[in-house]
Amino acid sequence: MPLLEVQDLRVHFPVKQGVFARASQTLKAVDGVSLAVGSGEALGLVGESGCGKTTLGRAVLRLVAPTGGRVVFDGQDITALPARELRRWRRQFQMIFQDPYSSLDPRLPVGESIGEALDIHRLAPNRAARAQRIGGLLESVGLRPEHASRYPHEFSGGQRQRIGIARALAVEPRLIVCDEPVSALDVSVQAQVINLLQDLQQQRNLALLFISHDLAVVEHLCARVAVMYLGRIVEMGPARELTSSPRHPYTQALLSAVPVVDPDSKRTRVVLGGDVPSPLDPPSGCPFHPRCPVAEARCRHEVPALRDLGAGRLAACHLAG
Ligand code: SF4
Repeated sequence: MPLLEVQDLRVHFPVKQGVFARASQTLKAVDGVSLAVGSGEALGLVGESGCGKTTLGRAVLRLVAPTGGRVVFDGQDITALPARELRRWRRQFQMIFQDPYSSLDPRLPVGESIGEALDIHRLAPNRAARAQRIGGLLESVGLRPEHASRYPHEFSGGQRQRIGIARALAVEPRLIVCDEPVSALDVSVQAQVINLLQDLQQQRNLALLFISHDLAVVEHLCARVAVMYLGRIVEMGPARELTSSPRHPYTQALLSAVPVVDPDSKRTRVVLGGDVPSPLDPPSGCPFHPRCPVAEARCRHEVPALRDLGAGRLAACHLAG
């Protein structure tokens, strides 16, 4: 049984146009996504900005309310759990944000921010145990216990992200949703934080749902990858196979943007035209057809299903497989 199972999840937002307008359109940020993450597994979720990956990550943790579908965590359907019951489950799933200030109060020493998480879930019986836990957590992310008394602004961006990770780890979660955790960092610092996440994942058997627009980062960290476009998954599969032989033209285009060190690389080069269409008015048929370099006439009116291509691979394209 997977640790996390997402079934046909939808997150739709009503959007009113004009101050007095009553009629509203529907923004389908997530539109029928199904996926599963096993215990200790890292699943990457990639796509361009606005494809719905952050909304999906938040809906999984019930930080935004799903419109339909189910989120099952460790066999428990948490989609409609009342807030009181959900609180008991919250300890098991945490989130790391792109901007660590989202989880760190700039007015508190970082040790207090980490301690807050321990206090909420009553994980330290006394002050000495609390201080020891905080010191241990800082050490586990490559910082020192004495850093606990410093404020967030006294750290570099990479160190702040490490503190955000320590705070998430404080409650000993089984799943962490990482929302673009390294995209605001320098490339050299990115590698250090990714390696840290990889070590922690293996040491603690953590499941990760790792959200990024950068396939190179995801390829390094995750065993499997799901590619999102306009609120839907268009391709999913083992990271190595998906990146070496992508089946969906959109995945091929994303990979084209990844710098390749090997001059003999046979990666297909696909150049995308235009911007991502508005999710308020998605194209008919295959939503990718206005930008697809190999679109056929039927792509304009036939929606491709996400088909099983074997060997753990799925793709939503009429021509895949
Ligand atoms: S279904 Fe058609 S438009 Fe969509 S990705 Fe495949 S070939 Fe391109």
